Amino acid sequence: MKLNTKTTLFSSGLMLIMLVVLIAVSLLSFRQFSIISAEEHAKTAAEMVRVGLTEMMVNGVIDKRKQLLSRISTANGLSGARVVRGPEVASQFGEGLIEERPQDEIESRVLVSGKPFYGLIDVEGEPLFRSTIPFVATGKGEPNCLACHQVAEGTVLGAVTITMSIAHLKQSALLTVAAMSVAVALFAVMMIVLFRRMTRPLVKTASDVQHAVDTALLGDFTTRIECLTNDEIGDIAERFNQLSDFLDAGLGDIRDNVAQLIRCKPSGNENMLTNTTMMVDGLVAAAQFKQAIEEDESKAEVYQRLVRVLQESFYLERFSIYEVAASKNRMYTVSVDSDESMDCRWCDPQILIRSETCRARRTGHTIDSIGSPQICNAFHPGEGNENLEHICIPVIQSGTVGSVVQMVIDQEAGADYQQLVPMINVYLREAAPVIEAKRLMDTLRESTMRDAMTGLHNRRFLEEYVETLVSSNARRDSDISILMLDLDYFKKVNDTYGHDAGDTVLKEISKVMKKVVRAADLVIRYGGEEFMILLQETAGEKADEVAEKIRAAVEELKVQLPGNVLQKTISIGVSSFPDDSETFWQAVKYADVALYKAKEQGRNRVVHFKPEMWTDEEDY
Ligand code: GH3
Ligand code: MG
Ligand code: MG
Repeated sequence: MKLNTKTTLFSSGLMLIMLVVLIAVSLLSFRQFSIISAEEHAKTAAEMVRVGLTEMMVNGVIDKRKQLLSRISTANGLSGARVVRGPEVASQFGEGLIEERPQDEIESRVLVSGKPFYGLIDVEGEPLFRSTIPFVATGKGEPNCLACHQVAEGTVLGAVTITMSIAHLKQSALLTVAAMSVAVALFAVMMIVLFRRMTRPLVKTASDVQHAVDTALLGDFTTRIECLTNDEIGDIAERFNQLSDFLDAGLGDIRDNVAQLIRCKPSGNENMLTNTTMMVDGLVAAAQFKQAIEEDESKAEVYQRLVRVLQESFYLERFSIYEVAASKNRMYTVSVDSDESMDCRWCDPQILIRSETCRARRTGHTIDSIGSPQICNAFHPGEGNENLEHICIPVIQSGTVGSVVQMVIDQEAGADYQQLVPMINVYLREAAPVIEAKRLMDTLRESTMRDAMTGLHNRRFLEEYVETLVSSNARRDSDISILMLDLDYFKKVNDTYGHDAGDTVLKEISKVMKKVVRAADLVIRYGGEEFMILLQETAGEKADEVAEKIRAAVEELKVQLPGNVLQKTISIGVSSFPDDSETFWQAVKYADVALYKAKEQGRNRVVHFKPEMWTDEEDY
């Protein structure tokens, strides 16, 4: 209930109760007053009757008493006067007139008891006051009753019944009460009006505060309260306005600063409080994300964390992350809908080999098909997915597009996701330098594991990789064949054609070896002109066949030198792990033994290790 209604109801109720009490008290007082006054009147009239009758008796005209009584009855204010003769008087002076006999039970009782009766009666709708007052004989006074009446002191001689109308009293009482009520009612109305005027600033300030708090809860702190008085109520309004100023300015600043950090414009329509809280929460989460990815070991872990953020914080189900390759014109897929093994699902796979066809990669701008339908020709969501839209965000690393994050969303949810873009961008900006650093680290690490001249993996790589290789081989319960290769009479090349010619031969032969083996096989430059090839899931004769293929390919290779064409041969030793040995490094040694045998047997051949070749370890 409103304060205004409450105060009005309260003061009206109070005034009404006052009025009712006043009327009740007034009516009761008037009644008492009327009865007392009527009693006094009756007593006076009774005394007059008694005096009159006594005088008539003394003067011997008592037989004229009827006239006296009827005259008295017409006196103003009286409506009847009647005398009743007591039994003692009746026995001394006779029964008297018929009307002087007791008329009712009240008169008989008064004659017996000697006690007066006063009471209100209603005769034909008219309120009357009736009194029956006894005349009691007394020897005192002048004239002396006992002088004429032969009765004892205190005997009831008779009684007089006086009736008088109190209608006029009732009427004037009602009139007075009515006038009083009107006065009180007027007073009450004035009081209520005055009370309302006095409480108006309080009520107005309270409702203004209520309205201002309501708007503040919606994030709008611009509502101010009018200062209506210079008392405590005015003080409340002033302080409330100061608080609103403080909150408006403070929160506005926070929101603007946070918006600047997120790089989104506050629209002004949204709830400033919840919006700012959400933005701050988002920034805190992004800061935690940054801390986590900085401590991640590899780039893959960083991407995994990014995938989790897209799924859990932004509720994305369909999305892709592409990384732009160092050569720039290629991209490869990091994750599609959190599946790392998928190549391309939402775009034309062409973007992977010609990254320029990816609009976000090419322009470095966010590509949003909700705002600009059909903006990218490479977006191919597939049949039945025509209602899907995409927002592709480029991740800028050192001024160029390093990765692209693609959100694939339902048309209806498009606007919601557009609003999420600034916040997703915060995460991507945090991730960009970390991914770049990890990429650089990977490149550096990779370069220490490759031979610069041939581009083949080096021995260091083998040392690092061997553990993984052996355990995955064991898991698959498979074989690895080890090929040890050494060029025949290579020294001669250097000696005859120079070191550069030797290098050219090494590069060309490396290419041949790479070409002959499968992608999963590893070609390692093991030493100067010595190579090792690890054939995965290959053993026995199959390995020998591959080795033979390599040997033949090298033999056929014609290396073009300035002014010369060179042809070289190669010797190959083969062993299989775990077929030939229990440990990998032992198998390497066995392949080396086989190579030695190949050289021994005249070079340009493939020799598979046999246990009998292992005569004295020291020889090798
Ligand atoms: P064989 O193996 O048939 O017994 O005879 P070889 O002449 O090939 O003998 P060896 O394997 O011992 O010779 C290795 C030579 O390879 C020595 C060295 O001059 C040369 N060599 C090693 N690394 C390089 C390199 O990176 N570039 C060039 N040009 N020559 C290298
Ligand atoms: Mg050698
Ligand atoms: Mg050699």
